[in-house]
Amino acid sequence: MQPLDRRRFLNRLATGMSLFAAAGIPGLTRGTAIPWGPDVGENRPQRPDGLAQPAFRPLPLGSIRPRGWLERQLRIQAQGLTGHLDEFWPDVAGSQWFGGDAEGWERAPYWLDGAIPLAYVLDDEALKGKVTRYVEEIVRRQRPDGSYGPMASAPSTRPYDLWAILLANKMLVQHHEATGDERTLRAVEASLRALGPSVTRTPLFGWGKYRWFEGLIPIFYVHERTREPWLLDLARTLRAQGTDYPALYAREAVTSPTPRRGRWTWDKHVVNTAMAPKAAALSWRLDRRPDDRAFPGRMLAILDRYHGQVTGMFTGDECLAGKNPVQGTELCAVVEFMYSLENLLSVFGDPVFGDRLERVAFNALPATFSPDMWAHQYDQQVNQVQCTINPDHMWTTNGPESNIYGLEPNYGCCTSNMHQGWPKLAAHLWMTTPDDGLAAVAYAPSEARFRSRGVPVTAALETDYPFRETLTITVTADRAVSFPLLLRVPAWADGATMTVADGSPVPMRAGSFHRVEREWRGPTRVILRFPMRPRVSLRYNDALAVERGPLVYSLALEEQWTRVNAGAPHRELPHGDFEVRPTSPWNYGLLLDPENAPSGLTFEERPVGERPFSPEGAGMRARARGRRLPSWEMAHGWAAEVPPGLQTSAEPLEDLTLIPYGCTNIRVTEFPRVRV
Ligand SMILES: [Zn+2]
Repeated sequence: MQPLDRRRFLNRLATGMSLFAAAGIPGLTRGTAIPWGPDVGENRPQRPDGLAQPAFRPLPLGSIRPRGWLERQLRIQAQGLTGHLDEFWPDVAGSQWFGGDAEGWERAPYWLDGAIPLAYVLDDEALKGKVTRYVEEIVRRQRPDGSYGPMASAPSTRPYDLWAILLANKMLVQHHEATGDERTLRAVEASLRALGPSVTRTPLFGWGKYRWFEGLIPIFYVHERTREPWLLDLARTLRAQGTDYPALYAREAVTSPTPRRGRWTWDKHVVNTAMAPKAAALSWRLDRRPDDRAFPGRMLAILDRYHGQVTGMFTGDECLAGKNPVQGTELCAVVEFMYSLENLLSVFGDPVFGDRLERVAFNALPATFSPDMWAHQYDQQVNQVQCTINPDHMWTTNGPESNIYGLEPNYGCCTSNMHQGWPKLAAHLWMTTPDDGLAAVAYAPSEARFRSRGVPVTAALETDYPFRETLTITVTADRAVSFPLLLRVPAWADGATMTVADGSPVPMRAGSFHRVEREWRGPTRVILRFPMRPRVSLRYNDALAVERGPLVYSLALEEQWTRVNAGAPHRELPHGDFEVRPTSPWNYGLLLDPENAPSGLTFEERPVGERPFSPEGAGMRARARGRRLPSWEMAHGWAAEVPPGLQTSAEPLEDLTLIPYGCTNIRVTEFPRVRV
């Protein structure tokens, strides 16, 4: 059978469908027993005056090393586009930030914002040397008034959108944290000092206005090391000039999908949206307003209800686009949302943000790269049966190349911003608690080093999670020391248990942080088991989606990659552009009962591959039964309940293979339901 003509199929989708889910906004906060303790231990900077303490503090960059599949993934990234973008892509190689004449705004700082944490979590000497040379060049070029980069210092010149300065400072403090180079800290402080008069002359506008809160990250970083009160005044000034997201989310406009070929707006821009959940958390640290604590949950519930996808993301191609699984989600939004969740986890300590972080990181993030991480998409789709240059696309405001895999499909922002996803995840897996303890806030194989009450401690996690249910943590203390170990128990992990040393398994409550208080001495093993029961969720138009643990499962398709744009500038291999088409049928409905998911699904462990997120490297696969549908149009389009006449059509039931969403390049994830 030939795959159905995609244009007719998409047109079908554009008509006659309910755009809003009937489901109520789910409650977001599960109780957690984390105290907001007032103190900080010696492993953290001195307590600042005037800033509320976060529930957890990220460890200094470089304290956490990836292991197992995560290390392989990060090495793929370092050997792919991230490690080499500056060698051939003019907007970084010839950036005005480094004295060149190419783009002089966000692109070079974006790249460094991901390349710096990648270099230091991997402890990669070559990459560390490379990023350090660029950082030193930016610092060296700073002007006496504190302005740097291409930002003009003369007030009479055309206003420069200060977003790039907020971003550059956020990027630079990571380098200071990893290296302790005081010149970088002084450069950021001088830049922030210049920012006050600058925003007094020309208040924030454009991207800077919508992303004001990113500036609070370097402001707080410098404040915790200098206690300069003017820094918090500057933070309040940025907040006063910036977009008021709670007010924006009290209005109805954000709930409606942007029409196909609709109007681009700042308010519904998907990357702004993905960055914004952290605004309230940072604002809460300034003056502890209860509304700021409540807002992120409310914002995520609205996004889930009106634009949510099974990957934990929301659509935006590139403005918010509703729940239809063939709308796109921009890669910048994926990595920015992950960073927002890492900030929310740190400030509020709510495990729900850890669940969401893993869901995005293990599904939406890897799916949107080629397995070698040389090519990426601008927009990914949850139901993505082919990735081609398509002038008849159904995006809201993006262009025809948005979902091919390539160097800079549609626009180059993701080319420069995609790098932060994996390395910042690795850097935020473990955090310290206010009472000198350690919290495992998200799980992937890794090793964390910190000091508790002066005693060096290592926590090493061996696991193939999220492809497996068992996680083995070895805590090693140089000498006896008592501190709490907090373990996030995912909300889906009913029946979770923990076994310490030679003890018996202890039950843990799903959706909480489990606290282990003991004296640690030498190596102690802590074995976690998170039972992963299959789930079948009802999605857009009652379509079925298969989930197990933090992973979403999609139909595995045979695929054909075709090189395109070979003559375009900078597309020399390995950084070329590609279309991907299916060479196996994809138009199936599934025979599954949402009330009894395990009855229709079997799961089989596979070795986690050298490329963990590739079709052949998938560490787990599922079998389900389904039936090919003669025509999607007859089946009421994507994801509709199949009419009774077709549910039992003449097509035979077939055994189908599903693999994790993050391992696919093309896929069907939301399926119509068929019956025996
Ligand atoms: Zn982008």
